Amino acid sequence: MKLLEYEAKEVFSKYGIPVPKGVLIRAPEEIAAHLPEIGDALVLKAQVDVGGRGKAGGVLFADGATAVETARDLFSRDIRGVPVGSVLVEEKLAIEHEYYVSIAVDRSSRQPVILFADAGGVDIESAALADESAVRRVIVSPLLHDIPPFLMRELLGDAPKELAPAINRLYHVFREKDAMLAEINPLVTTPRGVYAADAKLIIDDNALARQGIAVNRDLSEREREAEKHGFSYVELGGSIGVIGNGAGLTMSTLDLIEFYHGRAANFLDVGGGADQERVMHAVKLVASMPGVNVIVVNLLGGITRCDEVAKGIIAADVPPKVIVRMAGTNEEEGRELLAEHGYRMLGSMDAAIRAAMEVSA
Ligand code: GDP
Ligand code: MN
Repeated sequence: MKLLEYEAKEVFSKYGIPVPKGVLIRAPEEIAAHLPEIGDALVLKAQVDVGGRGKAGGVLFADGATAVETARDLFSRDIRGVPVGSVLVEEKLAIEHEYYVSIAVDRSSRQPVILFADAGGVDIESAALADESAVRRVIVSPLLHDIPPFLMRELLGDAPKELAPAINRLYHVFREKDAMLAEINPLVTTPRGVYAADAKLIIDDNALARQGIAVNRDLSEREREAEKHGFSYVELGGSIGVIGNGAGLTMSTLDLIEFYHGRAANFLDVGGGADQERVMHAVKLVASMPGVNVIVVNLLGGITRCDEVAKGIIAADVPPKVIVRMAGTNEEEGRELLAEHGYRMLGSMDAAIRAAMEVSA
């Protein structure tokens, strides 16, 4: 999850990285009330998730006299197609020099990699492309709590040592926030010291729960139910319900339905070791989708036992026709149970899906 600049700056500031004085506004008129605290030299920055925002007109300068009209101007723009809903109003820094620093995960060494460039700012990408040596790079073991001094020296080269604490704190942010990317571009020197003039922070989506970040999603009743049972579940809008175990098998089921020009209603992966109870909930869930008139259950027995699955399907006892393809552990027991209750169990995926197509047609 990518944080907006003002959110990233709040995090950076908590970790002791100096950020400019600033306030978030959601309407142009709000700016007036904040002028006394922020001062007379201002930067207005659109809070949009767009790269190259400055070049696209998302960063404007103003003074007290022009603040409101500049804010109006910025709110009326859209930045590369994204409307401006909020603006970060900051004191304008007296920048002496702009540097670039970022920390990301290096895939090949599976460790944090820190990049630093003497020439930061809006043209860093083209500068780095033109001259590879413009960007220095070091790998740090994630077991280290701080960037070791010898690596910091290598990173900074001739750049001022006073940048080091901010870079080390950025590394703390990166480690402790489970970040995929922590970037300051530009990291600037001013007569009052070093500041993060911009801030970017991308948190690993797999760490959101651990980080206590609530993801704001509008889940449907059924999606909430699926989440409760730990199913991977996506609604697709067709009429053939799909239940599988394992993402691969479930995807191939969807592919085959598509191949026969059918329309799948959903993707539902019950996961490993599905017992009677889980299968019953899965079948009931898919059956509750409007427009579903047939359900294909495509399961491979292993830890999952076919007789358990059969019991789950029978217990669900739903109106749409359930067509089953199962193979593996206790297959025969499963087949007998299903047959006793009038369900069709077919030997191949192909046969099961063609049977489902006939029902849904
Ligand atoms: P980006 O285009 O989304 O990366 O936006 P930035 O926040 O990095 O701002 C773009 C550029 O605007 C920076 O590289 C600076 O050159 C300039 N800028 C941003 N804030 C300030 C400031 O406080 N003072 C000055 N003088 N320039 C700034
Ligand atoms: Mn920037």
